[in-house]
Amino acid sequence: MTFPKHLRAVLFDMDGVLFNSMPYHAAAWHTVMERHGLHLSREEAYLHEGRTGTGTINIVYGRQYGGEAPPELIETIYAEKSREFSQYPEPEAMPGAWELLLQVKAGGLIPVLVTGSGQRTLLDRLNHQFPGIFTSDHMVTAFDVRYGKPHPEPYLMGLKKAGVVADEAVVVENAPIGVQAAVAAGIYTIAVNTGPLDARVLLEAGADLLYPSMQALCEAWPQLLKEHSIEPRRL
Ligand code: CA
Repeated sequence: MTFPKHLRAVLFDMDGVLFNSMPYHAAAWHTVMERHGLHLSREEAYLHEGRTGTGTINIVYGRQYGGEAPPELIETIYAEKSREFSQYPEPEAMPGAWELLLQVKAGGLIPVLVTGSGQRTLLDRLNHQFPGIFTSDHMVTAFDVRYGKPHPEPYLMGLKKAGVVADEAVVVENAPIGVQAAVAAGIYTIAVNTGPLDARVLLEAGADLLYPSMQALCEAWPQLLKEHSIEPRRL
């Protein structure tokens, strides 16, 4: 895919992009699944990152027992996982995230949040950590979508909420499944490899561009816009 000629919006995933929350999510998934006799290593949890809770539970359940997990079990595990996650320290903002968001905003671009998370605590913390960046009408969360990533729906909805089309936006993602969703939505996708995965899985998922961290993307951003002749709009 080519970088948008008329860039108007930047769609940000949340966990592992804006917050360094993935180590806690992976640990919480592992702990709670084991409690119910389901085997999901921390490492594998990173590969499922971005899926809905139901999707992740069904994959692990299905390969052990075949078929889909009973709805009550899904509900129990997801509730326990959320509780477990909330016991960990508050995730910190990803280094470089705030500075990148400020550049995006100052450049007159629309920042949009697109997350599969329904974790109230993190959603609340968004406005606290990144004040004045995301307006509620430019946020897509677990409460908005029917199909989670890797389905393109969350990103298509992000475009719609921003009032832009696919070739007027870029996505910033850290998870293979999130990259798949963005690519399926027809959006130029920048991957940031902020976790333990081999960077190749992000490229195989279809990422157009890859950075080793949010800090690296933040530092490269002015040059990236310049290379594609995008003039930051003056406020
Ligand atoms: Ca993520």
